Amino acid sequence: MPNYRRPFRPRRPARGLRRLDRLPPGVRKPLIRLRRAHGLMEQGKFKQAGAIFDDLATGAENRGLPRASQLKLQAGRCWLLAGKTEQGLDRLKDGLGLMVAYGQTDRLDTVSQRILGDLKGNGFEEEAKQLEVSIRDLLSKAQQSGVSTRTQKSLPILPSICPKCGASIHPEEVEWINNWQAICDYCGSILQAKG
Ligand SMILES: [Zn+2]
Repeated sequence: MPNYRRPFRPRRPARGLRRLDRLPPGVRKPLIRLRRAHGLMEQGKFKQAGAIFDDLATGAENRGLPRASQLKLQAGRCWLLAGKTEQGLDRLKDGLGLMVAYGQTDRLDTVSQRILGDLKGNGFEEEAKQLEVSIRDLLSKAQQSGVSTRTQKSLPILPSICPKCGASIHPEEVEWINNWQAICDYCGSILQAKG
């Protein structure tokens, strides 16, 4: 059987991730770190992943980028799974607080429920209880300011992984631009619905 593989084939990114080398460095660098953080998480290296998410979240927060909330939440998840419960809980509270600050209140309830389910599913019962108190507080504040939670409807199918940064996509939590396009919470790239 002849070998058709060319000798200097560039290394392909894992699982259908798009190559980033045509992007300007200012965009590419954070994306590479984001991909790395998601990859480390998948490998169970939560401490290293948490440190990168922390850093990216601070950077985004300093620049007033709405994705800071999602990055904080992901950092929280990492720290909890790394056994740093206090640090993890702090990040989760910060992340949910940022969602309110950035006006992402229509997704707050859905995101909160997922996080609480995630905590309980990983044996963090006590932490879930603590976070529930903060969430109730945040939700009541959001509702007082006249914001309603999004009505659930059937959503088009999005890729399960962001092709740019490798983040897991939750269709019910992303921001939809129109009926067939949504924005990745982590890197801001546009996700195209299938069919
Ligand atoms: Zn992305």
